Amino acid sequence: METKFRKIGILTSGGDAPGMNCVIKSVTCAAIDKGVEVVGIIGGYSGLINDKIRPLTKNDVAGIVSHGGTFLYSDRCDEFKTEAGMQKAIATCKKHNIDGIVAIGGDGTFRGATDLSIRGIPCIGVTGTIDNDITASDITVGYDTAMNSVLTMGDALRDTCESHARCNVIEVMGRNAGYIAIETGLALGAIGVAVQEIPFDKESLFKRMNEARADGRRSFIVVVAEGLGAAFSEGLVKEIEERTGIETRFVRPAHIVRGGIPTLVDRNLALKSGYKAVELLLKGVSDVVICSRHDQIVPIEIKFALILDRMYKNKLKEDDLEGFTDKQLAEMKAICKERHDYFVDMYEVINGVNR
Ligand code: ADP
Repeated sequence: METKFRKIGILTSGGDAPGMNCVIKSVTCAAIDKGVEVVGIIGGYSGLINDKIRPLTKNDVAGIVSHGGTFLYSDRCDEFKTEAGMQKAIATCKKHNIDGIVAIGGDGTFRGATDLSIRGIPCIGVTGTIDNDITASDITVGYDTAMNSVLTMGDALRDTCESHARCNVIEVMGRNAGYIAIETGLALGAIGVAVQEIPFDKESLFKRMNEARADGRRSFIVVVAEGLGAAFSEGLVKEIEERTGIETRFVRPAHIVRGGIPTLVDRNLALKSGYKAVELLLKGVSDVVICSRHDQIVPIEIKFALILDRMYKNKLKEDDLEGFTDKQLAEMKAICKERHDYFVDMYEVINGVNR
């Protein structure tokens, strides 16, 4: 039995990611197709607080799938975290007859979606973060494009490193997650990949570089995850030079990899997730995030997803696990193990192949 929805709002919030526009397109078209009006909320939750609302038609979203960024703009809004800000947002929803919201972003955005859901505005989250740091979802919208952007830049660096017999250390985004680093490190043939998830053995890196240089190898790429901090990555450049004598340069592509044309993987993940979000919202489901698990598009309770993130990062607070069934807890532990094992396996392959 479908709930009668008059209007759905869409917003993009937090750090932007390529593919967010594809979610907007998908939600807009799917909802209009089901006879529901759609409005765009401009600038994330601040647009909701400040009544920045625009109607969206299928024509408005035609052709945006190939554009990076988000045409609804994004923002970080601290006022939304306060009860007063939340009430302003709810008043805007009431004023415009917004009966439900699809919120595209990362964990912060989903926290906001829960806060609105429990106050009577049903929300569904869709991932939009290059960091791939939503543990409940195997991949997130934006991640694939960001990895491919790093790959393109890394390949270009490899060319010039080869010409000049240099090493290049590349620090890649990912906040506290090393996914972009580990995947691009393998694909780029990096001789070293440093991430927070696995202890990094500098001595082994210097040894392998010295051996490879003695063997005639000219170029070297080392990938470092942003989460280790600027002091680590910039320091590593100096240490490599000192310990190997190989001229070493540093690159931080930073936000360049947050933009650009979304890849097929990101577009289709976004389009499928947006479609699923509308289908579920209209069925009366809320307070879930649309995830990709083993190639299936599935809803996962936001509370489950957020606590799972904390479990994975070893940051559980007292009482966090209260209210979950034994089956859910076992599932959380299994996902954490799956993720950890993945890093261990990737390290083994990188060490075995990229010499
Ligand atoms: P991301 O969604 O990429 O993780 P942020 O953590 O910056 O990005 O969160 C985006 C926005 O979501 C914040 O600016 C704020 O408006 C909202 N938000 C974040 N945390 C909460 C919270 N605990 N309660 C309500 N809203 C939140």
